[in-house]
Amino acid sequence: MSVRLRFAPSPTGYVHIGSLRTALYDYLFAKQKGGEYIIRIEDTDRTRFVEGAIENLIDSMEWAGVIHDEGPMMEAGRIVEKGGYGPYTQSERLHIYKEHIEKLLESGHAYHCFCSRERLDKIREEQKAKGEMLGYDGHCRNIPMNEAKKRIEDGESHVIRLKLPKDREIVFDDLVRGKVTMNTNDSDDQVLMKSDGFPTYHLAVVVDDYLMGITHMVRGEEWLPSTPKQILLYEAFGWELPKFAHLPNILNTEKKKLSKRHGDVAVKDFMKKGYLPEALVNYIALVGWSPEDNKEIMTMDEMIESFSFERVSKSGGVFDVDKLNWVNSHYIKEADIDRLTKLCIPYLVEAGMLAEGEVEEKYEWVKMIMETARERICYLSQISEYAKQFFGEEVKLENDDVKDVLKLEHVQDLLNTFKDKVTNAEAIDAVFGKKVFKMIQKETGIKGKNLYMPLRAALTGQLHGPDIDKVIAILGRENIQKRIAYVEKHYI
Ligand code: GLU
Repeated sequence: MSVRLRFAPSPTGYVHIGSLRTALYDYLFAKQKGGEYIIRIEDTDRTRFVEGAIENLIDSMEWAGVIHDEGPMMEAGRIVEKGGYGPYTQSERLHIYKEHIEKLLESGHAYHCFCSRERLDKIREEQKAKGEMLGYDGHCRNIPMNEAKKRIEDGESHVIRLKLPKDREIVFDDLVRGKVTMNTNDSDDQVLMKSDGFPTYHLAVVVDDYLMGITHMVRGEEWLPSTPKQILLYEAFGWELPKFAHLPNILNTEKKKLSKRHGDVAVKDFMKKGYLPEALVNYIALVGWSPEDNKEIMTMDEMIESFSFERVSKSGGVFDVDKLNWVNSHYIKEADIDRLTKLCIPYLVEAGMLAEGEVEEKYEWVKMIMETARERICYLSQISEYAKQFFGEEVKLENDDVKDVLKLEHVQDLLNTFKDKVTNAEAIDAVFGKKVFKMIQKETGIKGKNLYMPLRAALTGQLHGPDIDKVIAILGRENIQKRIAYVEKHYI
């Protein structure tokens, strides 16, 4: 039988990198086995619905290249659903949950509960005071069906709860955690249908996973305590269980659960900062999983081939931005230069360093900057800070060491010869940038550090940086002349 895995987010905000990881593992496993990967929108809690969340989800996943086979997709600017198991949005499946809850009521696996909010609050307070486990006390468990029906006809507000058997051991195999044993005494009679006729997550997830033919339920470990209740629902319906995989939390470097308070967590934040999708996806896969050969740089196809739930760690995976930056720098160094240039232009425009109208004309120039930047930046939005050194005609000295270098006795001679070469060269390009040092050395006898350092200092105000021949080519004749004039006037 072919596998079917689903990622089932609630549209309560922008996609978190933890969700990207869950979706990615679903995707990797489904693709490895030649199965399907599905997105289902779990929007039964209408109070938490966030406008734009579904669009952000589709957008983020498309950017990341974690593409689903079924579920909501964007077509000509609007959301449409594709696949033969729809609707894929729970709020459009209410009639299906109604039908199924009726079956549970009939078979005695569920019951109507008429307890008021006040009563529930009161028993909660009492349980708290006595230090007991919090939960529903089963007050309405034994109301006969005809009495319940009468009360409903009379318009009494009610919910429907799962009738959890007492003191039953529920044992299941988790693909990540191995054998898990839980006792029903640690849970209470879960609400399955709310008074407004909307199902709760617990009912909807079981019904949908079954009807959508889901073979593997992959999700965060916070859902582990809910699993026994869901297993009992499968049992009540007489359905075969899917396989379970509960993923460890993603922690920050202080080993606390990753949250917005500690920095970026939305996929969109990383997109904006200029992480390459293949880098983020590669790195996030490794937060809590490693392939057998412990390889760290992997293409999607390699991950598809080597992924396994058995190698997902039981303890939390640590999200380390430095490590992500390392992975991203790797991909930046390898990426196609035109792709990088195009991705970087918006940052320069946003920083006011490039006008919209001059993008085309300056494209090749920006590309030259990018050639040197790719060796030095960790994510693309750093380009505006990095590129500053090539803008403007004034040279700001990085520190006093640069000043000292410019004060060396031979510097004026060196600059004079350099200026002369620059003025007379046919073109100021990388070839000239390389050639000019040999020419100066031959003419003046100045060589090595004494040659390179003062020239870099005069052109950039720094003692270290990108290859000086490339810097020369990027600056061009006019800017070089102006910068040297500025240095002569202010520092020599
Ligand atoms: N809707 C749940 C969430 O957003 C999904 C839980 C599950 O995958 O079963 O976390």
